[in-house]
Amino acid sequence: MILFGKKHFVLKHQTPKEIICPNCNSENSTKVSVIGIYKHLIHIPFISGGKSGISTCTNCNETFRFLNMPNSIKLAYYELKETAKTPIWFYTGLIGIKVLVLVKIFSRYF
Ligand SMILES: [Zn+2]
Repeated sequence: MILFGKKHFVLKHQTPKEIICPNCNSENSTKVSVIGIYKHLIHIPFISGGKSGISTCTNCNETFRFLNMPNSIKLAYYELKETAKTPIWFYTGLIGIKVLVLVKIFSRYF
């Protein structure tokens, strides 16, 4: 049984018209996705582990991970990343612990 680990979640995706697939040369077919990574404990999201990117061509299925993305796709990814927010539920576990600590502190006074 896995108690903790990393999970991926697609925060935002877009198919920019100007990107031409380097593999099959088709336009308007490259889907760029911003992926949020979160660390979880017993499947409860605990803390954000940053963002990453992936692009897939819907025509030829060529996939690029962020590290080997061609520059034109990388630029589109950066643009998309600016507008992709880390969801608050990535921190569910952390917020839960903070609330518990606060409850414990306050319970001393009441
Ligand atoms: Zn392609």
